[in-house]
Amino acid sequence: MLKGNVALITGGSRGIGAAVAKKLASLGADVAIVYSGNAEAADAVCQECRDNYGANTRAYCCNVADFAAVKELVSQVKRDFGTVNILVNNAGITRDGLIATMREQDFDEVLSVNLKGVFNLIRHCTGIFLRNWGGRIINIASVTGIMGNAGQANYAASKAGIIGLTKSVARELAPRGITCNAVAPGFIDTDMTKGLQDSPLAAAIPLGHMGTPEDVADAVAYLACAGYVTGEVIRVDGGIAM
Ligand code: NAP
Repeated sequence: MLKGNVALITGGSRGIGAAVAKKLASLGADVAIVYSGNAEAADAVCQECRDNYGANTRAYCCNVADFAAVKELVSQVKRDFGTVNILVNNAGITRDGLIATMREQDFDEVLSVNLKGVFNLIRHCTGIFLRNWGGRIINIASVTGIMGNAGQANYAASKAGIIGLTKSVARELAPRGITCNAVAPGFIDTDMTKGLQDSPLAAAIPLGHMGTPEDVADAVAYLACAGYVTGEVIRVDGGIAM
């Protein structure tokens, strides 16, 4: 279904990003994955995509918050793979704390990685999409960006920002056949949510259990294939934000 497409996935070494890389590879895409430090995990994801699906894969170490480094990253991916057709902005971090005591550094870091990182990737891939007269941009937001969450003002601001960014980019690039959508996961079982399985928030999920990275990857795969959906935010949250 995605044969001949190149997918660039940030945060592809673990959790949701790793599941997205494997899902898109299973549909025939070649995958370039970006990680921030965990080379071993990134290489393992690449290996799995190659062995199981015959995908052309490569892992790149890059801090998505660094504008100049992302410019170089995108150029390198273009040299290695020839183009980029699907961009999945998934890399993200948390630095939780109550607003009364949240450190400036924790606010800035979360906004830099989660929101500016998305801008950086879209900014540097857009030239490729414009020349191709097509492309799929899929940003991983969060239900926290829709509902808010006590103790996550920085994270919620970054994820709400992604939703506004998604809709603006969708409007701007639609005339060239480029779509831009977001997926808003709820509680997904990854390293990020370790230890939260028994929290009151998890107990409030209407479907009664946390989601898996594969649940989110399925929504990303849909958006990677859909041609007539843009500016949309798909919740994958077991109903928690309805
Ligand atoms: P995770 O397991 O903590 O993995 C984070 C990934 O992002 C890793 O691959 C990590 O690379 C990479 N990364 C972190 N900072 C980076 C940076 N500055 N530059 C490049 N890569 C960086 O997270 P996850 O739970 O899979 O979450 C993935 C996305 O989904 C995030 O945007 C998160 O906010 C969102 N989300 C998650 C949940 C959830 O319940 N898990 C819910 C809603 C939204 P290394 O392996 O090298 O560290």
